[in-house]
Order: sequence, then structure tokens, then C-alpha cells
Amino acid sequence: MGNTTGFMDYQKVPVSYRNPGERMKDWDEIATLPSEEILTQQAARCMDCAVPFCQNGSELAGMTTGCPLYNLIPEWNDLVYRGKWKEAYVRLNRTNPFPEFTGRACPAPCEGGCVASLANDSVSIKNIERAIIDKAFEEGWVQSNQPKQRTGKRIAVVGSGPAGLASASVLNQQGHQVTVYERADRIGGLLTYGIPKTKISQIVVDRRVQLLEEEGVQFVTNTEIGKDVSMNQLRTENDAVILCLGSTRPRDMNIPGRNYKGIHFAMDYLSQNTKSLLDSNFADDNYINAEGKDVIVIGGGDTATDCITTAMRQNCRSLVQFDIYPTRPNSRAADNPWPQFPIIHKVDNGQEEAMHIFGKDPRAFATTAQTFVGDENGHLTGVKSSNIETNFDEKGKKIRKVIQGTEKFWPAQLVLLAIGFEGPETTAFDQTNITLTNRATIQVKEDMYQTDEDDVFAAGDAQKGASLIVWAIQEGKEAANACHEYVMRNGL
Ligand SMILES: Cc1cc2nc3c(=O)[nH]c(=O)nc-3n(C[C@H](O)[C@H](O)[C@H](O)COP(=O)(O)OP(=O)(O)OC[C@H]3O[C@@H](n4cnc5c(N)ncnc54)[C@H](O)[C@@H]3O)c2cc1C
Ligand code: SF4
Repeated sequence: MGNTTGFMDYQKVPVSYRNPGERMKDWDEIATLPSEEILTQQAARCMDCAVPFCQNGSELAGMTTGCPLYNLIPEWNDLVYRGKWKEAYVRLNRTNPFPEFTGRACPAPCEGGCVASLANDSVSIKNIERAIIDKAFEEGWVQSNQPKQRTGKRIAVVGSGPAGLASASVLNQQGHQVTVYERADRIGGLLTYGIPKTKISQIVVDRRVQLLEEEGVQFVTNTEIGKDVSMNQLRTENDAVILCLGSTRPRDMNIPGRNYKGIHFAMDYLSQNTKSLLDSNFADDNYINAEGKDVIVIGGGDTATDCITTAMRQNCRSLVQFDIYPTRPNSRAADNPWPQFPIIHKVDNGQEEAMHIFGKDPRAFATTAQTFVGDENGHLTGVKSSNIETNFDEKGKKIRKVIQGTEKFWPAQLVLLAIGFEGPETTAFDQTNITLTNRATIQVKEDMYQTDEDDVFAAGDAQKGASLIVWAIQEGKEAANACHEYVMRNGL
């Protein structure tokens, strides 16, 4: 810790974004980095805590606090402060194989746990992480790294999201021949076809995939395991399999009028939009278009915000977001103390863009859809909503109650359902003895990532439930290590 008073000398400079009016004209990344001088000052705000809560990833009150990858945050903060960027990259790379993804899209539970936030604002950890990896790419420090020896073992990874890529990277470095199977036409999972390009540009995903290819990982696209290739065949041809299938079954809203045309799952909307953008810059017209429509996004999380970002760029006529929760407080509530993830009111970039065009926050808080309304041709014309009250019983279980007399009609020709996911699809492992938990995620032996079939492992959203990139990377790494032990121990 070079600067003992940095946290008092400098105010936090948070992540900044391009001006909404400007950025809505394109699909480029919207976050910008401050100058190197400011980043150095921001790194100086780190207190090099004896117990660095920022790097100790855990779950408190059902939410993540600290870094699940155990990133060596105080160490690289200090190295950035001293101008030793290359060393900072080396330290960052020790724990995080893909900091360019987390530095762009992580909600930064490290900052929620940062000790500096007890007295002041947290250290801008996410920005510093991104700055280190972006500089490392610019300076050519990120090079492919061939494993020194090959073991002769073959391992198949199913799914190419962050969990699959992390597993593949670790297993390849351990000397195994890794093949990643992906049913989509591009590699990346939700990094490619979920999170909009405004957060993570495709170049950022593709350059990492290229490095993995140079290191020896093989990628097979347009191939669905369980359909195009059976799980049996995959297990016969490989010493082990890791399932990184994601949590892709969307939660539905089975209320009256659900069948009207114009109601779509968020992921169909987002992935078609990105595919059309990447394939043809929208010339193929092969996407769900919000242009000129009144749009209602149902849901309060990241996926809902991404739908808003997308609808705003498609020039929707109006936009409303139903959030089932009431407005959050401006600072931590008494029952949400540090180091829990702070549940506070935020205006995310999607809402900021809607405010820029329509002059008000698009969110209707404590609101839920009751009925979809349509015309005689089966087309959606609107949504009837009610306000809702959320309470908790003595066991902490949520109890929701509709408030009578609060019904309201909202015109809409497009509704996007972004209310969560219900676990992985099972096509890949239907013919095996693999079972599911009561949360519909793949059952694994505790801390082992091993399923009910000894040679099959599972990691990421498919095993944990819909979560974050940072958890997917960590789980992918840990599952790879468990799989490595299994194939080596069994001398297969
Ligand atoms: C819209 C959206 C926005 C998000 N934004 C953020 C964010 O800003 N920050 C953040 O940290 N997290 C975000 N998340 C969550 C994050 O993206 C996920 O937690 C993470 O991608 C999970 O990684 P994964 O590798 O487990 O699965 P995925 O990324 O879902 O990848 C799974 C892959 O498996 C493939 N697959 C499935 N079945 C088969 C099969 N049978 N054969 C072959 N391939 C198959 C799928 O096609 C997919 O490509 C977001 C999620 C969504 C939906
Ligand atoms: S908790 Fe915050 S101040 Fe302490 S070491 Fe981590 S980043 Fe630095």
C-alpha cells in the first residue's frame, strides 16, 4: 500500500458511460475508462486491508459479496498505483482467465464488500480490472500459451458460455485434448447471444476464443448434444464430459391472454437481435422489432435492462418496465448491512436511455401484469396491471398480495418477459442417470461438480442456477480441476 491516505485524498470515480443521446445511435460498448492518471489515483484509494472483504467471494443473505474468483484485488490495486501495469496483469491473470468479461459486465460484488465503503465509497475495482486487461491486450502481453505436455486424455465440454470456456482453458493447460460443443452458430453462450454488444463487444469474445484455439482447444458449433450427437457417443469418445449448458428454460407468465401475438421471452428477443446484428447489420430483418411499438418489459433484473437497451435502439414508441419490487432505498437499509451486496435504488444504463428520450424513469414499481389484452386477430393490444405488496413471513419466505383497486391498463404491442429462468434443458442428458435438484438444476456431489454419472461433471448456471459470469468462470475452473483429478486418478 503505497498511499496510506488515498481513500481520503481522492473521491471515487465510478464507471462512466457515453452520453445516452450519442450511444443510442449505435451498438458499440457504452462504458468508457478514465485516464491512466485517474485510474492510478483510484487504485491509491485501496487500503490493502488486513482482511480484504473484496476478494473473499461468498454468499450472504442469498446474494454474492466479494469476488467469487478470489481475485488478488489489493495486490493489483497497489501495482496499478505504482504504475506496474504488466505485473498487475500477471496477478490478475492468476485467478481470472477472462477479466475482459468481468471487467465489462460484472455487477462487482467485490465493490459491495469493499471495506472502504463503510466510511466512504468503495474502491472502483471493476474499472481497474478492465483497465488492466485492456492495456494488456493493447500492449500485446496477452499471448496464447501452449501446454508443455499432452496427457492423451480427451474431454468434451458441452456449452461455450463462460463456464465452458473456463473449463476448456484449465483442462487444456493441464494437457488434455478438449473439444467444446456448442449448439449455436457462434461460441460464447450468453456472452455472445444474451448480454447485448453494448456491454461486451463481439471482438472481445472472439479474440479470447481465438487465443483458446491457438492453445489447442477445439470448437464445434451448430451441434446440439442429445440431438445431433448423443451423450452416449460423447462419453464413449471421451474420458470425461463437462456439462456447461446454462440455465436456458425461461420462466413463463401463465396469465389470461398469454397466447396473443406480440408476447416474447426476453432471450428470444435479445438473441435474435444480436444474431441479426452480427450476421448482416440487421439487413436480413430476422429479428423481433420494437420500432414504433409501445413496449412493456416485465422483470426487474439485468435481462430486463438489456431488453430496454435493445428496444431503445430499435426506436420503440414508448417503454414501461414492470418491477414487482417497490423502489429500493437510496442507501443500505438496516437489514442489508455491509458486507452484503447493497440493495439500493439504481438507474441502470437502459433506464437512463429511456429517461433521456421519454423524460421519465420507465419503471412502474411494485407492479405486476394481471391480464394480457388483445384484438380479434389475436394481436396483443395492452396489459392490465395491479400493484403488489411484498412481505416476508417469520421464516423469511416471500408473501405477495395484490392490492385491490389498483388495476391499470397500459397499451402495448410488444411485451418482453424477463422474469427469470428455471434451470437447464435436459435434452443432453435425458438418456443418462443424471438427476436434477428440487431447484431443477443438475445434481452434483458437494464441491465435486460430479453428477450421478461419474464421468460427467456440471458447472455454471446449469448447476448453480441462473447467476453471474464471475460464478460461471469460477465454477468452470473448479469443475475442470475435479474432472482432471478424476481422469488422472482413474488412469483412464
Ligand atoms: C440477458 C442476460 C444478461 C446478463 N447480464 C449479465 C451481466 O451483465 N453480468 C453478469 O455477470 N451476468 C449476466 N448474466 C448472467 C450470465 O450471463 C450467466 O450467469 C453466464 O453466462 C452463465 O454461464 P454458463 O457458461 O453457465 O452458461 P451460458 O452462458 O448460458 O452458456 C451455455 C451454452 O450452452 C449451450 N448449450 C445448451 N445446451 C446445449 C446442448 N445440448 N448442446 C450444445 N450446446 C448447448 C447454449 O447454447 C449456450 O451457448 C446475464 C444473463 C442474461 C440472460
Ligand atoms: S476491501 Fe476495498 S480497500 Fe480493502 S483491500 Fe479490498 S479493494 Fe482495497
